[in-house]
Amino acid sequence: MSEHSNVETIYAYLDGELSQQEALALEAHLRTCPECAGELEHQRSLFRSIESLPSVPLGTNLAPGVMAAIRPRRDWLQSLVLGELLAAASLTTALVLWLGGAELQL
Ligand SMILES: [Zn+2]
Repeated sequence: MSEHSNVETIYAYLDGELSQQEALALEAHLRTCPECAGELEHQRSLFRSIESLPSVPLGTNLAPGVMAAIRPRRDWLQSLVLGELLAAASLTTALVLWLGGAELQL
């Protein structure tokens, strides 16, 4: 790996999501590039800081409110899709009738 690593690659490395070949290539680059090695250590330190934060239990269960807010939108989307299907069916019917009428006039 001759180019510098991007942050997404470093995140993937820290998460263990790189293939063995990708991880080996990154590790080889890190041994020769203080800039990328520093970025890795910075991101690793950030991950550790985030993981060390205490978990804060929620006082209330938010799931029912979230689901209630999502349902009306889903119904709206379903009616929109159904409306488009009905419009397409009407257009197809009109086209078939028009073409059928055109053949009768010939
Ligand atoms: Zn580099």
